[in-house]
Amino acid sequence: MIILNRLLALLAASSLIVGCAAHAQTPASLAVTPNTATSSLSGCPSATIDKLFNDFGRTGKMPPELGRWLNDTQAQTIEPYQAFDNVYNVGICWVSAWLIKTSDGPVLIDTLYGAYTDRLIENIKKLGVNPADLKMVLLTHGHFDHVGGVAKLRALTNAKFVMTQEGWSEAQADAKASQGKPDAWTMPAAADVLVKDGDVLTVGDTRFYAYATPGHTWGTTSYAVDVKDGEKTYRAITIGGLGLNAIDGPQQVEAYIHSIDRFKAMVSDTKNPVAVHLTMHPFSTGLSEAKELLKTRKPGEPHPLVDPAGLNQQLDALRAGAVERLAVEKATANRPAP
Ligand SMILES: [Zn+2]
Repeated sequence: MIILNRLLALLAASSLIVGCAAHAQTPASLAVTPNTATSSLSGCPSATIDKLFNDFGRTGKMPPELGRWLNDTQAQTIEPYQAFDNVYNVGICWVSAWLIKTSDGPVLIDTLYGAYTDRLIENIKKLGVNPADLKMVLLTHGHFDHVGGVAKLRALTNAKFVMTQEGWSEAQADAKASQGKPDAWTMPAAADVLVKDGDVLTVGDTRFYAYATPGHTWGTTSYAVDVKDGEKTYRAITIGGLGLNAIDGPQQVEAYIHSIDRFKAMVSDTKNPVAVHLTMHPFSTGLSEAKELLKTRKPGEPHPLVDPAGLNQQLDALRAGAVERLAVEKATANRPAP
């Protein structure tokens, strides 16, 4: 508890607690139970959710409304939707899962967790895709909300499960630490494909670019892929983790800043500039609102998810928060032991 409180106190130094913020809460509070109460967070309003996560980071206390909402399967449910010609969102309100169609079958990014993995499987089926036909499952990092569903999904498909060794190891460590707790989860012994920074995975007509981007966790991996919108093609990225809620010292924050700088370089790249963020946490980019614009978008209008300036702004904000956090971490690390 002391370590938890210290971490949360450190979070107060930064407004950044987007993504996986709930990891700092005891797992019991995240057990997925039916909840019939109407949540004011129904409809996934990004700014309100972001504020509550920030409150959690600042105070160390899970706002009751946020805690209820995270466990409210009804409020978390969103209809799967097509984001680009070849990209579908099959996740829930607070965590994304993305399905990319290729000429050789679908590829999934992340697996959700607990009962939400059942929702993910339903969403995939609603798109007319049989989960058994998945070709590959790309995994971003070892926290339960992204890889908690690996074991369940793996039983349904022959897809290759892909991660860095560091990511897989941290997932196994997290799963092990959850044993004996109400929402314990398991992680299979080994990945099917271990990727390294710079690896390219080809499925049919589609290439997936893997980047080791330590920061949110040491094993965080990000994936880029080209997304299609009619005649246009854009390079998109899924940044594997955004929050500073699982930091174990200044070196990790330095790694985080280095990774952010790599993403910024990708956005300004002249050959294949990244212009789309397929975020793992919809409230971190206003995705819940942007996707509504897709419904009324007319031919020729700009695509609401093609937003390199917005991605740059997000990266700048994340970087500024990390620089602040680095100072706090360094001060703590340099403090002489009592
Ligand atoms: Zn996480």
